[in-house]
Formats: sequence, structure tokens, C-alpha cells
Amino acid sequence: MNPGIITELKAIAPGCVHPNEPMAKHTSFGLGGPADVYIHPPDEGSLRKCATLLKDAGVAIKILGRGTNLLVRSGGIEGAVLSTEQAFSTLQAEGGTVAVGSGVPLSELLNFCAESGLTGLESLAGIPGSVGGAAVMNAGSYGIWFADHLESVAVFEPGESSIQVAGSELDASYRRMGIPDGHIVERAVLVLDEDVPSAVTARLQEIIERKWRTQPVGMRSAGCVFRNFPDKAAWALIDSAGLVGARVGGAVVSDVHANFILNDRGATPEDVEELINLIRERVSDRTGRDLVTEVEIIGRRAH
Ligand SMILES: Cc1cc2nc3c(=O)[nH]c(=O)nc-3n(C[C@H](O)[C@H](O)[C@H](O)COP(=O)(O)OP(=O)(O)OC[C@H]3O[C@@H](n4cnc5c(N)ncnc54)[C@H](O)[C@@H]3O)c2cc1C
Repeated sequence: MNPGIITELKAIAPGCVHPNEPMAKHTSFGLGGPADVYIHPPDEGSLRKCATLLKDAGVAIKILGRGTNLLVRSGGIEGAVLSTEQAFSTLQAEGGTVAVGSGVPLSELLNFCAESGLTGLESLAGIPGSVGGAAVMNAGSYGIWFADHLESVAVFEPGESSIQVAGSELDASYRRMGIPDGHIVERAVLVLDEDVPSAVTARLQEIIERKWRTQPVGMRSAGCVFRNFPDKAAWALIDSAGLVGARVGGAVVSDVHANFILNDRGATPEDVEELINLIRERVSDRTGRDLVTEVEIIGRRAH
């Protein structure tokens, strides 16, 4: 990347611009080669300025929430990775309406809702992403989707002002909210029902305990690797193809939940990708179903 751009970025966000930053530090898999530059702007104004500068210079921008749905290849990411974590961190409620910045961890939003006696999102407990990631991916769990409670999102394109899009205008579906590519989610507004805080907290706890029993929580993964079919869970197809425990290098199919691949022994991104391809092939051969990844695989291949 042009060193002049790095200098300009550093002037906008001092101390927050890191050339050649390993993405392994910023993904739940703990994997991924270097981004040409990783930036975590400290506030909204500096994020907007960085985004505009990058766009005008023709540098590709990848927005990063908490990196919990990403597999970044060893060759790293061409262009800039822009983290929302600090820039969009506000969280406010008025009655049953909550306005939340895209960089806020989903867990923080859920705890806030429980303390405020607001119910509706409890099933999303245990999803380790950010509000922005949940909004873009339409994160869902146990029959509840982020879209179910979404009144609107504020989004913008680099160099442009924010626009408010009503949830009802978005074409949300399974793991897809329908937010156009290239738009950055700034904030989501959610509408929730009221309940006593202790009841909401108890439901949150119940969901978290259920996930501890049924998912390899605490291990390095990106959650479910493949999308489910409307009539069949991906884990059941992987299980029936005899792939539980299948391994490529340090990447292994979890024996707790077969749709999770774990980085358990110093895997490389290529180990994980090879295991993904092996699962696809084997499931297709044995069941005739073609699995589609839910995890986003990005970045340059290793030389
Ligand atoms: C243990 C574990 C359990 C999981 N369980 C579930 C589950 O039950 N249900 C589920 O749906 N998912 C689950 N996931 C997957 C993941 O947590 C979700 O997809 C989550 O919503 C991703 O959020 P993130 O902030 O990490 O997004 P990232 O991985 O950082 O990004 C995901 C995508 O969203 C884009 N993006 C992120 N923020 C913004 C923004 N502000 N503006 C524009 N684009 C943005 C990124 O560019 C990328 O394309 C799980 C993951 C793990 C590791």
C-alpha cells in the first residue's frame, strides 16, 4: 500500500493504524495472515474520515466486527480492515426501543436488555459477534433472528451521509439481512417487549447453559461452518457421512457439534479450508446434498 496513505491514516487516527497486522489476532478461529493495514478508529468521525480517504484512494475496505464468522487465508487481506469496535459503541434505551452501535458486542446488548427488563433477543445469547455482524448476517438461534426485532438500521457508504433503512424494507432471510454490499452499518434500532429483569436474565442463562451442553464453547472456531437446509441440519449430514473427528492438520470436526470445525492444534487457514472442501465432497457423495458455507472465507492464498 502507498506509504502516503498510511501516513494520512495515522494523522486521522493516531495510535490506531497498524500496517501488516496479523488477522489471527482479530478472528475467533485465531487464524489469518496480515491485512495490509488494520485500523481501529477511536470514534465515529475518524472512522468516517478513514473510510472516505481509503475509498478516494481506491483501497479495498473490509469492515470487521468481532471476526467470529470469518476464515482469513494465510496470504492476508489486500487493502484495509476497519474495525467498528470503538467507533460505534453507544447503547441507549427509551421504553422498549433500543438504539445500539454496530461495534457493541451482542453479549453486552443482551446483558443491557436483561438489566433493563427488555425481552425478545435472549435466544441469541452465546453468539460472540458484534451488533453490526449480527445485523449483516441476520444472526439467529433457536428460531429467533436479529431481523425479528429490527426496526431500522443506519448505514452509510464511505464519503456519504447515513441513511436510515426500515427493517421492513430489507429483504431479510436465513443468515442474510439484505444490507447492500459496501454499506457500513453504524447503528441498529430494535423494538423489544417489557418483562421483569430477573425473568429475562434466567432465560439468558438457560440459553447459555444449553449452548455449553451442545456446542464446543470456548474452543477456537467460527461457529457453524455450513448453512442448514430447510429440512435438514448440516451437522446431521456431516455426522451421517462419518466425518465427526475428521482432521486435516490442526483442523478437526468437533465431536460435540459436527457443524463446528475447531482450530485445536495450531491449524493453518488452509487446513480448515481443505477440511471444508473434504466435508463438502464427502457429504455430496454420500447424501447428494451440496453444503454451502455460512463462514465467510476471505483473503489471499498463501504463495
Ligand atoms: C462459538 C460461536 C457460536 C456461534 N453461534 C452462532 C449462532 O448461534 N447463530 C449465528 O447466526 N451465528 C453464530 N456464530 C457466527 C457469528 O458469531 C455470527 O455470524 C456473528 O453475527 C458475526 O458477527 P461479527 O461481529 O463477529 O462479524 P464479523 O465476523 O466480524 O463479520 C461478518 C460479516 O459482517 C460484516 N460486518 C461486520 N460488521 C459490520 C458493519 N458494522 N457494517 C458492515 N458490515 C459489517 C463483515 O464485513 C463480514 O462480512 C457463532 C460463532 C461462534 C464462534
